[in-house]
Amino acid sequence: MRFCPKCGKMLMPKNDILKCACGYEEKISAEVAEREYKFKGERKKENKVIVTDNNNIALPTTKITCYKCGGTKGVWWTVQTRSADEAPTYFIRCVKCGNTWRRSN
Ligand SMILES: [Zn+2]
Ligand SMILES: [Zn+2]
Repeated sequence: MRFCPKCGKMLMPKNDILKCACGYEEKISAEVAEREYKFKGERKKENKVIVTDNNNIALPTTKITCYKCGGTKGVWWTVQTRSADEAPTYFIRCVKCGNTWRRSN
């Protein structure tokens, strides 16, 4: 599964291109599409990153200051980009207005 490095949304493949609603696009190979999106439906790996666009999932909350609405309650999650050696990227979403951004650290 891939996540948009810009906004943190889950990317779904269209043919061999991952497209995000924010405009981000990434070309992937057929092997990657098959491996990460289980196109053949064979592999079962449940220890993947939690899908973030489902509001029913309880994400940990944190104190924030939303630069859009001034909200103070947010949820956060991490996305492991690229290799497992790199530190995961933190995303924060304002629960009030849904504004999502990367935590810069
Ligand atoms: Zn995006
Ligand atoms: Zn907000």
